[in-house]
Amino acid sequence: MSVRVRFAPSPTGPLHLGGVRTALYNYLFAKKNGGAFILRIEDTDQNRFVPGAEKYIMDALAWCGMTLNEGINEGGNYGPYRQSDRKHLYKQFADKLLESGHAYIAFDTADELEAQRKANPNFSYNAAIRGSLKNSLSLSNDEVKKRLENDEPFVVRIKVPEDEEIRIHDIIRGAVFFHSSQVDDKVIFKSDGMPTYHLANIVDDHLMKITHVIRGEEWLPSTPIHVLLYRFLGWESTMPQFAHLPLILKPDGNGKLSKRDGDRLGFPVFPLNWTSPETGEESSGFKERGFLPESFVNMLAFLGWNPGTEQELFTEQELIDAFTIENIGKSGAKFDFEKAKWFNAEYIKKLNNQDLAVLVNEIVTQKFGAQEIGYLTTAVGLIKERLTFLNDIDQFGYLFQATEKYGETALSKINNIKDIFSVDAFENFIQPLDNAEAVALESGLKEFATTNNIKVGDMMKFLRVSLVGELSGPTIPDLIVLLGINETVKRIRNCYNQL
Ligand code: GLU
Repeated sequence: MSVRVRFAPSPTGPLHLGGVRTALYNYLFAKKNGGAFILRIEDTDQNRFVPGAEKYIMDALAWCGMTLNEGINEGGNYGPYRQSDRKHLYKQFADKLLESGHAYIAFDTADELEAQRKANPNFSYNAAIRGSLKNSLSLSNDEVKKRLENDEPFVVRIKVPEDEEIRIHDIIRGAVFFHSSQVDDKVIFKSDGMPTYHLANIVDDHLMKITHVIRGEEWLPSTPIHVLLYRFLGWESTMPQFAHLPLILKPDGNGKLSKRDGDRLGFPVFPLNWTSPETGEESSGFKERGFLPESFVNMLAFLGWNPGTEQELFTEQELIDAFTIENIGKSGAKFDFEKAKWFNAEYIKKLNNQDLAVLVNEIVTQKFGAQEIGYLTTAVGLIKERLTFLNDIDQFGYLFQATEKYGETALSKINNIKDIFSVDAFENFIQPLDNAEAVALESGLKEFATTNNIKVGDMMKFLRVSLVGELSGPTIPDLIVLLGINETVKRIRNCYNQL
């Protein structure tokens, strides 16, 4: 049977790092096995619907390069792929469960249940107590009928067996046991005609022929309900295999990395920027922070999985080849922003100059004005090693604009230059070297210094401050080749006149 996996987010807000990782592991697993990667939008809880969230999810997957085989826009043989568009499908299964006695109708109002919870903080709607609550197990048939005829609001609850050990096989965790007394009679269908997550999820996984459910650890406690639903609906033999992913923890390991942590701790926890339509609150994304999707994906893959070797940098294809669910760990993975930065810097170094130029073109144009692409390509080549983020290019304004400000320390290191250096002489020497290559310039510069009795080091310092504004930066010959002789001389004169 060919592998079919789904990523099934609820569109309740932007996708958090953990959600993207779930999608990624599903994607890698599908690709590795030549299977299908499906996006299903689980929007049965209309109260939690957030406009824009669905598009955000799709944009985020697309940015990461996770192409879908089936989904809302892609189509497929098992659609629709949005649960609110599948509304008509679920009722028959709730009815079937009612008929077979594996589910029952409950009339308890929200207020009544709240009062129960107040009286007993450990209250749960289960086998021990359901007989004393307002439902079709405790009320007479006539009473139930009357209430239904009077259009009294109700829900359908699963009837969890009273005393049974429910065994789940999890690919990551092995056998996990739940006693049925720990499991609530969850609501599976509501009188508004909508299924809850539990029923819709199982029905869809079954109808969509999902073979593996790879999802966050927070869904493990729901899994006994799901296993029971498969059994009660007679679908046990095609039940998918489960794999519950470990949590992503805060950098200090103290608790789950939450949506709130990101901007509080100074790093993004979302793939893309997001503005809450309700509050206008803005949350930052990895993309806008200057991450390359490839490095983001590589970093994310390592949050919970490792290949069992020392290798850390993986192309997408290498990740696909190396990925196995068995190599996912059980314990939480600490998110380390410094490590994320390292990945990004490594990926930037690996880019060829032309590709990097294309990627930073917009940032550079906005900040320093449009550049000719050939020029930009040479320019980024000089500082590639110093970029952690694409946006760091904005610290290298001297590549694109004349230096106007000079560092004070830098100036103090070159203030003797006026006594030993003649700009006119320098200009005469360098003018004929237009179009010379860096190596030729390098020996030329040394020769000029020696002939004019200037220490090479002193002259280079002066040239660097003139061209860069600071004492550090790319090598002088490389800079001269980039800037051209006229711009070089202009900058040297300008600096000289300010000393
Ligand atoms: N809709 C659930 C979520 O938001 C899906 C959980 C699952 O994959 O079963 O994560």
